[in-house]
Amino acid sequence: MTTKSVKAVKATKSPTNPERVNAILDILAKTYPGVVCALHHRNAWELTVATILSAQCTDARVNMVTPALFERFPTPKAMAAASLPEIEEMIRTTGFFRAKAKNIQGAAKVVTEEFGGKVPQTMDELLRLPGVARKTANVVSGSWYGLPLGVVVDTHVMRISRRLELTKHTAPVKVEQDLMRIIPQDRWIAFSHEVIHHGRQICIARKPKCADCTLEKLCNSEDKTWSSH
Ligand code: SF4
Repeated sequence: MTTKSVKAVKATKSPTNPERVNAILDILAKTYPGVVCALHHRNAWELTVATILSAQCTDARVNMVTPALFERFPTPKAMAAASLPEIEEMIRTTGFFRAKAKNIQGAAKVVTEEFGGKVPQTMDELLRLPGVARKTANVVSGSWYGLPLGVVVDTHVMRISRRLELTKHTAPVKVEQDLMRIIPQDRWIAFSHEVIHHGRQICIARKPKCADCTLEKLCNSEDKTWSSH
Protein backbone atom coordinates (compact mmCIF):
# COMPACT_ATOMS: atom_id res chain seq x y z
CA MET A 1 0.00 0.00 0.00
CA THR A 2 1.35 3.44 -0.96
CA THR A 3 1.69 6.32 1.51
CA LYS A 4 -1.02 8.13 -0.45
CA SER A 5 -3.51 5.28 -0.20
CA VAL A 6 -2.77 4.78 3.51
CA LYS A 7 -3.52 8.46 4.07
CA ALA A 8 -6.74 8.11 2.10
CA VAL A 9 -7.83 5.19 4.27
CA LYS A 10 -6.94 7.09 7.43
CA ALA A 11 -9.00 10.07 6.35
CA THR A 12 -12.28 8.13 6.15
CA LYS A 13 -14.66 8.59 9.09
CA SER A 14 -15.17 5.56 11.29
CA PRO A 15 -12.07 3.65 12.45
CA THR A 16 -13.98 0.43 11.81
CA ASN A 17 -14.91 1.21 8.22
CA PRO A 18 -14.31 -1.82 5.97
CA GLU A 19 -11.59 -0.11 3.95
CA ARG A 20 -9.50 0.65 7.03
CA VAL A 21 -10.14 -2.78 8.57
CA ASN A 22 -9.11 -4.48 5.32
CA ALA A 23 -5.97 -2.34 5.17
CA ILE A 24 -5.07 -3.48 8.71
CA LEU A 25 -5.79 -7.12 7.82
CA ASP A 26 -3.65 -6.90 4.67
CA ILE A 27 -0.70 -5.42 6.54
CA LEU A 28 -0.95 -8.00 9.32
CA ALA A 29 -1.06 -10.87 6.81
CA LYS A 30 1.98 -9.52 4.96
CA THR A 31 3.92 -8.83 8.17
CA TYR A 32 3.22 -12.21 9.79
CA PRO A 33 2.72 -14.74 6.97
CA GLY A 34 1.81 -18.26 8.04
CA VAL A 35 1.94 -17.69 11.79
CA VAL A 36 0.55 -20.49 13.93
CA CYS A 37 -0.23 -21.20 17.55
CA ALA A 38 2.92 -21.14 19.69
CA LEU A 39 1.66 -23.81 22.10
CA HIS A 40 3.12 -27.21 21.22
CA HIS A 41 0.46 -29.86 20.69
CA ARG A 42 -0.22 -32.99 18.66
CA ASN A 43 -4.00 -33.18 18.90
CA ALA A 44 -7.09 -31.27 20.05
CA TRP A 45 -6.86 -32.61 23.60
CA GLU A 46 -3.24 -31.51 24.03
CA LEU A 47 -4.11 -28.07 22.68
CA THR A 48 -7.04 -27.81 25.09
CA VAL A 49 -4.81 -28.64 28.06
CA ALA A 50 -2.00 -26.35 26.88
CA THR A 51 -4.43 -23.45 26.45
CA ILE A 52 -5.88 -23.98 29.94
CA LEU A 53 -2.32 -23.97 31.29
CA SER A 54 -1.43 -20.79 29.38
CA ALA A 55 -3.69 -18.57 31.52
CA GLN A 56 -1.45 -16.04 33.31
CA CYS A 57 1.60 -17.91 31.99
CA THR A 58 3.90 -17.71 28.98
CA ASP A 59 3.57 -20.19 26.12
CA ALA A 60 7.27 -20.99 26.53
CA ARG A 61 6.70 -22.06 30.14
CA VAL A 62 3.68 -24.17 29.14
CA ASN A 63 5.77 -25.85 26.42
CA MET A 64 8.32 -26.83 29.08
CA VAL A 65 5.68 -28.55 31.19
CA THR A 66 3.46 -30.34 28.66
CA PRO A 67 5.84 -32.99 27.18
CA ALA A 68 6.22 -34.78 30.52
CA LEU A 69 2.56 -34.29 31.37
CA PHE A 70 1.38 -35.87 28.10
CA GLU A 71 3.88 -38.68 28.38
CA ARG A 72 2.61 -39.55 31.85
CA PHE A 73 -1.09 -39.08 30.94
CA PRO A 74 -1.35 -39.48 27.15
CA THR A 75 -5.15 -39.45 26.78
CA PRO A 76 -8.18 -37.74 28.35
CA LYS A 77 -9.05 -41.13 29.91
CA ALA A 78 -5.63 -41.37 31.56
CA MET A 79 -5.84 -37.76 32.76
CA ALA A 80 -9.34 -38.37 34.16
CA ALA A 81 -8.03 -41.27 36.24
CA ALA A 82 -4.86 -39.48 37.41
CA SER A 83 -4.20 -38.42 40.96
CA LEU A 84 -4.92 -34.71 41.32
CA PRO A 85 -1.79 -34.01 43.45
CA GLU A 86 0.36 -35.61 40.74
CA ILE A 87 -1.12 -33.36 38.04
CA GLU A 88 -0.67 -30.35 40.35
CA GLU A 89 2.99 -31.16 40.88
CA MET A 90 3.64 -31.55 37.16
CA ILE A 91 2.08 -28.19 36.25
CA ARG A 92 3.12 -26.25 39.36
CA THR A 93 5.43 -23.81 37.53
CA THR A 94 2.60 -22.52 35.29
CA GLY A 95 0.94 -20.80 38.26
CA PHE A 96 -2.59 -21.21 39.65
CA PHE A 97 -1.74 -24.90 39.49
CA ARG A 98 -4.48 -26.16 41.83
CA ALA A 99 -7.30 -24.58 39.83
CA LYS A 100 -5.69 -25.56 36.54
CA ALA A 101 -5.20 -29.19 37.63
CA LYS A 102 -8.83 -29.39 38.74
CA ASN A 103 -10.01 -27.95 35.43
CA ILE A 104 -7.79 -30.21 33.33
CA GLN A 105 -9.01 -33.28 35.15
CA GLY A 106 -12.61 -32.06 34.99
CA ALA A 107 -12.27 -31.46 31.25
CA ALA A 108 -10.71 -34.91 30.83
CA LYS A 109 -13.70 -36.49 32.59
CA VAL A 110 -16.25 -34.65 30.44
CA VAL A 111 -14.36 -35.45 27.21
CA THR A 112 -14.12 -39.11 28.24
CA GLU A 113 -17.61 -39.60 29.61
CA GLU A 114 -19.69 -37.34 27.36
CA PHE A 115 -17.76 -37.09 24.12
CA GLY A 116 -16.24 -40.54 23.68
CA GLY A 117 -12.71 -39.33 24.38
CA LYS A 118 -12.73 -36.76 21.56
CA VAL A 119 -12.67 -33.01 22.12
CA PRO A 120 -15.95 -31.67 20.65
CA GLN A 121 -16.08 -29.16 17.80
CA THR A 122 -19.05 -26.90 18.57
CA MET A 123 -18.91 -23.83 20.80
CA ASP A 124 -21.75 -25.04 23.05
CA GLU A 125 -20.07 -28.40 23.60
CA LEU A 126 -16.60 -26.94 24.13
CA LEU A 127 -17.97 -24.57 26.76
CA ARG A 128 -19.16 -27.58 28.76
CA LEU A 129 -15.56 -28.50 29.56
CA PRO A 130 -14.41 -27.17 32.95
CA GLY A 131 -11.83 -24.41 32.52
CA VAL A 132 -12.85 -23.74 28.93
CA ALA A 133 -14.31 -20.31 28.18
CA ARG A 134 -14.67 -18.73 24.76
CA LYS A 135 -10.97 -17.97 24.40
CA THR A 136 -9.86 -21.57 24.85
CA ALA A 137 -12.78 -22.84 22.76
CA ASN A 138 -11.76 -20.49 19.94
CA VAL A 139 -8.11 -21.56 20.16
CA VAL A 140 -9.03 -25.25 19.88
CA SER A 141 -11.71 -24.86 17.21
CA GLY A 142 -9.57 -22.49 15.16
CA SER A 143 -6.08 -23.89 15.51
CA TRP A 144 -6.91 -27.61 15.52
CA TYR A 145 -10.22 -28.02 13.72
CA GLY A 146 -9.82 -25.02 11.41
CA LEU A 147 -13.31 -23.85 12.31
CA PRO A 148 -13.74 -20.09 12.78
CA LEU A 149 -16.40 -20.17 15.52
CA GLY A 150 -15.20 -16.86 16.99
CA VAL A 151 -12.14 -14.68 17.47
CA VAL A 152 -9.55 -15.50 20.13
CA VAL A 153 -9.35 -12.52 22.49
CA ASP A 154 -6.34 -12.74 24.76
CA THR A 155 -4.45 -9.87 26.38
CA HIS A 156 -2.61 -9.02 23.12
CA VAL A 157 -5.73 -9.07 20.94
CA MET A 158 -7.55 -6.96 23.52
CA ARG A 159 -4.78 -4.33 23.79
CA ILE A 160 -4.07 -4.03 20.09
CA SER A 161 -7.71 -4.01 19.03
CA ARG A 162 -8.23 -1.08 21.40
CA ARG A 163 -5.10 0.73 20.23
CA LEU A 164 -6.22 0.33 16.62
CA GLU A 165 -9.74 1.53 17.56
CA LEU A 166 -11.37 -1.70 16.40
CA THR A 167 -13.23 -1.76 19.71
CA LYS A 168 -13.80 0.47 22.70
CA HIS A 169 -14.71 -2.37 25.03
CA THR A 170 -12.63 -3.96 27.76
CA ALA A 171 -14.70 -7.10 28.37
CA PRO A 172 -13.36 -9.96 26.20
CA VAL A 173 -16.82 -11.08 25.12
CA LYS A 174 -17.71 -7.57 23.91
CA VAL A 175 -14.35 -7.16 22.17
CA GLU A 176 -14.91 -10.48 20.42
CA GLN A 177 -18.37 -9.42 19.29
CA ASP A 178 -16.96 -6.20 17.82
CA LEU A 179 -14.20 -8.08 16.00
CA MET A 180 -16.62 -10.71 14.67
CA ARG A 181 -18.76 -7.90 13.30
CA ILE A 182 -16.03 -6.04 11.42
CA ILE A 183 -13.60 -8.81 10.38
CA PRO A 184 -14.56 -11.28 7.62
CA GLN A 185 -15.08 -14.75 9.11
CA ASP A 186 -12.42 -16.34 6.93
CA ARG A 187 -9.84 -14.07 8.61
CA TRP A 188 -10.86 -14.73 12.24
CA ILE A 189 -8.33 -17.51 12.88
CA ALA A 190 -5.32 -15.87 11.22
CA PHE A 191 -6.14 -12.43 12.64
CA SER A 192 -5.69 -13.65 16.22
CA HIS A 193 -2.41 -15.42 15.44
CA GLU A 194 -1.04 -12.36 13.66
CA VAL A 195 -2.09 -9.92 16.37
CA ILE A 196 -0.67 -12.13 19.13
CA HIS A 197 2.67 -12.15 17.30
CA HIS A 198 2.45 -8.40 16.80
CA GLY A 199 1.76 -7.95 20.50
CA ARG A 200 4.73 -10.06 21.51
CA GLN A 201 7.21 -8.51 19.09
CA ILE A 202 6.17 -4.91 18.38
CA CYS A 203 3.00 -3.60 20.03
CA ILE A 204 4.10 -4.59 23.50
CA ALA A 205 2.12 -3.43 26.50
CA ARG A 206 4.48 -0.98 28.19
CA LYS A 207 6.47 0.61 25.39
CA PRO A 208 5.21 -0.28 21.93
CA LYS A 209 7.87 -0.16 19.21
CA CYS A 210 5.90 2.20 16.98
CA ALA A 211 8.90 3.23 14.88
CA ASP A 212 9.18 -0.43 13.76
CA CYS A 213 5.45 -1.03 13.33
CA THR A 214 4.02 -1.76 9.89
CA LEU A 215 0.62 -0.52 11.08
CA GLU A 216 1.93 2.81 12.33
CA LYS A 217 0.41 4.96 9.59
CA LEU A 218 -3.02 3.54 10.39
CA CYS A 219 -2.66 3.87 14.16
CA ASN A 220 -3.76 6.84 16.22
CA SER A 221 -3.36 5.31 19.66
CA GLU A 222 -2.57 7.54 22.62
CA ASP A 223 -0.08 4.87 23.68
CA LYS A 224 2.17 5.49 20.67
CA THR A 225 5.83 6.08 21.45
CA TRP A 226 6.51 7.60 18.02
CA SER A 227 4.30 8.92 15.25
CA SER A 228 4.76 9.82 11.61
CA HIS A 229 1.55 11.82 11.47
S1 SF4 B 1 1.84 2.19 16.00
FE1 SF4 B 1 2.49 1.59 18.06
S2 SF4 B 1 0.61 1.50 19.30
FE2 SF4 B 1 0.03 1.49 17.12
S3 SF4 B 1 -0.17 -0.69 16.57
FE3 SF4 B 1 1.91 -0.06 16.04
S4 SF4 B 1 3.17 -0.53 17.86
FE4 SF4 B 1 1.00 -0.58 18.48
